[in-house]
Amino acid sequence: MTSKKPSTVESTTMRTHRCGDLRASHVGETVTLCGWVARRREHGEHLAFVDLRDYTGVVQCVVDNSADVRSEWVVQITGTVQRRPDGTINKNLATGEVELSNCSVVVLNAAEAPPFPIDQRADEVDENVRLKYRYLDIRRERMQRNLRIRSKVNSAIRTAMERQHFVEVETPFLMPSTPEGAREFLVPSRKEPGSFYALPQSPQLWKQLLMVAGIDRYYQIARCLRDEDLRADRQYEFMQLDAEMSFVTKDDVLAAISEAVMDAAEAVLGERPAPIERITWHDAMNRFGVDKPDLRFGMELVDVTAVFSATEFKAFSSAECIKAIRVEGVKYPEAAASGRNKLDALTDRAKQLGAKGLVWMKVGADKALESPVAKFLSDSERSALVDALGAVEGDLLLLVADTWSTTCEVLGQLRNDLGRPPVHEGPYRYVWVIDFPLFVGISATTGKPQPGHHPFCQPHPDDIERLESDPMSVRAQAYDLVLNGWELGSGSIRIHDPEMQRRVFRQLGISDEDADRRFGFFLQPFKFGAPPHGGFAFGTDRLVAILAGEENIREVIAFPKTQSGSDPMTNAPTQVNPTQLQELGIRTLPPPAKS
Ligand code: ASP
Repeated sequence: MTSKKPSTVESTTMRTHRCGDLRASHVGETVTLCGWVARRREHGEHLAFVDLRDYTGVVQCVVDNSADVRSEWVVQITGTVQRRPDGTINKNLATGEVELSNCSVVVLNAAEAPPFPIDQRADEVDENVRLKYRYLDIRRERMQRNLRIRSKVNSAIRTAMERQHFVEVETPFLMPSTPEGAREFLVPSRKEPGSFYALPQSPQLWKQLLMVAGIDRYYQIARCLRDEDLRADRQYEFMQLDAEMSFVTKDDVLAAISEAVMDAAEAVLGERPAPIERITWHDAMNRFGVDKPDLRFGMELVDVTAVFSATEFKAFSSAECIKAIRVEGVKYPEAAASGRNKLDALTDRAKQLGAKGLVWMKVGADKALESPVAKFLSDSERSALVDALGAVEGDLLLLVADTWSTTCEVLGQLRNDLGRPPVHEGPYRYVWVIDFPLFVGISATTGKPQPGHHPFCQPHPDDIERLESDPMSVRAQAYDLVLNGWELGSGSIRIHDPEMQRRVFRQLGISDEDADRRFGFFLQPFKFGAPPHGGFAFGTDRLVAILAGEENIREVIAFPKTQSGSDPMTNAPTQVNPTQLQELGIRTLPPPAKS
């Protein structure tokens, strides 16, 4: 019997219920279900069991074995819900107490045998095959769940932003190249052969212009594109909640974004995260050695420079900074008990990361230290070191002596290597990292400083006077949001004064003439009354992945690219027709020979 009621989520004109909804309370009802045949098993001479699947789950249907239905056929089955005979109840299945009997089956569409069983565990199927048949892969429970979590997150974010009076504005996809830092995807212009649009690495310029335009609070769940090597947390195309606000300071921005993130987390996990703590970039580096600290575990970096202030051990006495981490024997028994080979490997790793070396010490009874360098240290130094770290017998201590930044960076990486749990394993530890440096490192090509975030960040008011004299010491009013050691996103208070923007451009090696030529369209509007403003953007793919318990953002994106940037389903990227290239005024070089 088909429902005459108007469509609801459960019932449409073709079904009365969804497969996964049936329970003992439905016993005796005649229902019509639609879905895919998950499995067929012959049952005696005349009957067959058909497991019928839709996105809500699976239910067992007892059909006449003359019904010609096979795996993944699309069918409509009408039958009566009955309690399963004693001894056949399946406790592992939500519908396991019932089955559908006296079934009539209508085949809506036949199907070829799928290239892999849909109920097989995803990690048992080659990733290329999964992506080649992504539409089948998405039929699996895991992908169904992940995409629905994604939708929930997007919806919670939208609601949070609307509630805070943000206005959703769509910004262009075809735009000029911008100086935001990432390699851009270019789109050739047909009308102006030899000229190119860039696809947005983010809507940064547009959202700042919207502030000049008086929109006051803008948001968009925006698609961004960056031509950078793909990793577990990076795809060419990704989505971010992009937001900008006028007449604000950092605190306003952090509060607004926190609302959206917490609402999203609560929508998925049913529990609101604790208020997000803050740490300065300097403290993050000092304590965790990275600008995206994972606060789920200890092993913090401890500064022991003072312990060795009068040391005779050369490697220590000549160093600007000495730091150590304590690998607790109780928590990390394997790492703490590392033998010579593993310790050599750790030392090699430290050298690869830029350290001159790594000093290891094993703590024995009565603060005794076993280490190739122990003999160069005095008793009081050895004892003070153990005390400074609170070390006990069975711990392994790792020390780096170098510049402050190398010491922090190397030990921070070793800390992560040795102690960091997979990103998706709870608890969820959010942290705002604030006061990033305005510039990081010197570009090998221009010999000039490189922007820490992007060139539009407002310098910290206390540091502005050093912008020209000591640019590398200047902090930006820039901040990142970090979850379990993944950078979810970043933002800043922006420069709204054209002269300040020029000063920052000059530090980056962009002359006033260059700036006018390349970004005049952006600088010009700032002369017409730009309000103080700031904003933020965070990657929703990353947030969804962590909330869904996934380690790779590909698992929460419907149609992602492989690690090498291709799509096995559509074969993109593909060659194009020579006439298309001609129209665009493009001639291509032969592909470089594969090594
Ligand atoms: N445009 C920046 C980004 O995409 C975020 C921001 O500063 O608002 O990373």
